[in-house]
Formats: sequence, C-alpha cells, structure tokens
Amino acid sequence: MANPQLTALYGPERRELILRAAVREGLLDPDDAQLAGFLDLDAVAATVDALHRAFPDSVEVLHAFAAKANSLVPVLERLRALGMGCEVASPGEFAQALAAGFEPGRIVFDSPAKTRRELARALELGVAVNIDNWQELARVDELLTARQAGQAERTRQAGQTRSRIGVRVNPQLGAGAIGAMSTATATSKFGIALADEGNTARLVAAFRERPWLGWLHCHVGSQGCPLDLMADGVAATVALARRINRELGRRQVVGLDIGGGLPVNFADDRVAPDHREYVERLRAHVPDLFSGEFRLVTEFGRSVLAKSGFTAAYVEYTKTSGGRAIAITFAGAQVATRTVFAPDSWPLRVTAHDGTGAAKHGEPVEQDVAGPACFAGDLVARARPLPLLEPGDLVALLDTGAYYTSTPFSYNSLLEPAVHGVTVASDGAVRFETLRRAQTVEDLLGRTGG
Ligand SMILES: *Cc1c(COP(=O)(O)O)cnc(C)c1O
Repeated sequence: MANPQLTALYGPERRELILRAAVREGLLDPDDAQLAGFLDLDAVAATVDALHRAFPDSVEVLHAFAAKANSLVPVLERLRALGMGCEVASPGEFAQALAAGFEPGRIVFDSPAKTRRELARALELGVAVNIDNWQELARVDELLTARQAGQAERTRQAGQTRSRIGVRVNPQLGAGAIGAMSTATATSKFGIALADEGNTARLVAAFRERPWLGWLHCHVGSQGCPLDLMADGVAATVALARRINRELGRRQVVGLDIGGGLPVNFADDRVAPDHREYVERLRAHVPDLFSGEFRLVTEFGRSVLAKSGFTAAYVEYTKTSGGRAIAITFAGAQVATRTVFAPDSWPLRVTAHDGTGAAKHGEPVEQDVAGPACFAGDLVARARPLPLLEPGDLVALLDTGAYYTSTPFSYNSLLEPAVHGVTVASDGAVRFETLRRAQTVEDLLGRTGG
C-alpha cells in the first residue's frame, strides 16, 4: 500500500528540476564535479513528520535515527531539529551524534563490540545502552560497581546512572530475503538468543538481580525482512517483557526498543510500505503495544532517507564490447558499494539525462552503466534498457539517500564526492546547501600518509 502524500514528493520532474539547477550552479561539472549526492530536505522533513504521525499519541515514543544510514553531521542536525533521537553503533557515530547536538538522553548506543571505555562514557553521559551479550552485561556490572564506589560520598543514589539500560534479544525467527541483512536468524551474531537452552530463564534471573535493567531491544533486520517477520520479533519481545515483569512481581521492564528495518521500495517512486502500514501491522500482531504499558524507541534508518536522495554522475566514455553498449561513468563501487557487490539484492534505478540535466527520451537500448573503479564487476546496472548514453550525459542513481553516497568506500583512492542538501521554494527556486564537501586530493594525501 503506497502513501500518496509522500509518493507525490518524488518523481522525475522534481529530480530534473534539481539536476538542472545543480548543473547551472556548477555543483555538477564535467571537469570539476563529475559525481555528487543530493538529499531533498523537504522530502526528508515530510517523511519524518509522517513517521511521527504514524505512531499513536497513547504511547511515548523516541524515534532514534540509525546513524549508520547517513552519518553526515548536518544531516543528523537536521533530523534532530525535526524531533528525532539518534541510534549509534561505533565511537565515530557516537561522536557525530554529539557533534550534531543530540541530548545524551536521546542517543541510543548499540554495537556488538562496545569497549569498556565507550560503555563508561555512555553511562557517564546518560546515553541509553542496549547490551548485546552476557559478557557485556558482566562488563556493565563492573562499571556500575566502580561508579558506585566513586559516587558513594557524593550521593545516596550510589551506582545509579541516568542511562536507560536494556538487553538486546534475538527472537531467532529466521531470515528475510537478504541473508546479510537478517539479524534474527538462529545463529545471528546479534543479541541474546531467546530459544537457546536456558537463555530465557537466565534473562529473567539477570533482570531480577539488576533493578537497573529496564529495557528490552530487538531489531529483526533491515531491507528484505517482511513486515510480519519484524512484527513477530516485536511480539516475542513484548511477551518476554511481560514474563519478566510477571515473574519478578514488579514493573521492571518499562520500555521496548523495537529497532528499525522498514524496507524501502527501490523499484519505483511509490513510498510503500510506509511507517503507518508498519504500525497497523504491529497493532495486528501485538494489539496492546500502544496501550502505554511500555515506552517505545524505534531505530529507523533507510526508510527515513533512502527515497529522498539520488546520486548524479557524468558519462565520460561509451563503447561496445561483445555487442553490449557500455557507459563509463563516475558512479561505481565507491558510492554504490552494495549494488556493485551484491547486484541481485540491491538493484538501483538509473535514469538518463543530457548534460544540462534534462531527461533523455531516446529509444531504450540495453546498456551496462559502469563505474570508474578498476575491477570488472564495477557496474551499477547491467543490460539495463535506457536511452543510449553518450559522453557528457548524466546518469542518476535513485533512492540513494541512505547507505550509499553518504557512506563511501575508498577503493582505488576514488575521492569522496560532495553531498548537497536541496530545498525547493513554492516558486520553484532550488536552494542548495553543503552537507559534505567533496574530498580533495590534498585531503586524500593527508589521510594516506602523503
Ligand atoms: C542498521 C540498524 C538499524 C537501522 O536499520 P534500517 O534498515 O536502516 O532501518 C537499526 N537498529 C540497529 C541495531 C541496526 O543495526
């Protein structure tokens, strides 16, 4: 089911308007800026607004954006201003979230490999922590005991931290369509496996001994996971929260972090499914999830930004090889890493434009759209019917607002392209702002010891 209001924000006319303006302003230039990312900030604002409205007022929800989906600090700042929190999973993302101005209480720290120092910092600042495994739980025990010793003279609230502390569980429901994106398989590296012998009883006991454990966390997976699988994961987490509270005879689990993972439609401009449909599905699987019994945190990433971004690149050369038309462009594995290495799981739409940004309308010809990297698999589209591309044309890789151009791969020392934020006024005037400036050769040399 598509969301018509959101779908109306995307489409070829708006992309063409933005591309033409970018060429006019020199943000795309055949000599100086052959590759750039664009993020439509109006569309982002509408998507975040729709996310907030999708959840009912009966429940307290913090929507924590998954920083790995697009960790550019100005993007995080924008999402903070739109009312989101931030989910981080590395020291770099932690620093980016703080730099973007998120209150520590609105940051959620997930990672399967949190160091002692990172955990101590999170507990000190009051950042929420989701513990991944039994060893990490023991480590948090030690850190809280140390805090208690340090605080004993200062406060009666010894050992307390403002952090909301939870445990990540794996309901072991199985995989979605993309194995690498499925975190709730029987042998997943994430969380405590609920169906493994003794684990549920051990979790109940862990909560009994630790009154400071108040949350459960579950993230079933990302792209490729059906909504029913995600909702089943939330249902299993709610059932565990109720069991813990029942067995302890107290309301100790007060909140559930239900993760992110809403899949994105990469096939056309429809926003389907949307967050509202997911909320309906959650209601069907867990009727009283929104009763107010539990506070909620979500961690959506891809579904917040993917469709609001595209990546544009010039065609430098064209050729045929074995009868196949090939366009060599500047967009390849460095900006579309997943698509290049796993093309069947991550197909991207590609559109053809002339050098001014105007859409090309020629007869479709099957073409490979290749990147600049020096390996044969560096193709963003294979045998794709498109108007015949020529040198000096532009191609656009659609739905790349998350996990693509913001997250480059430094193969062949290809420089990181600029990413521009875009807003369009009601009179059609296009305004750009820099979200990330292009990496220069000097930056590259500095990074590589030159
Ligand atoms: C990656 C990740 C997310 C975000 O997933 P999306 O598919 O981008 O919504 C949320 N939570 C955790 C723990 C993750 O690892």
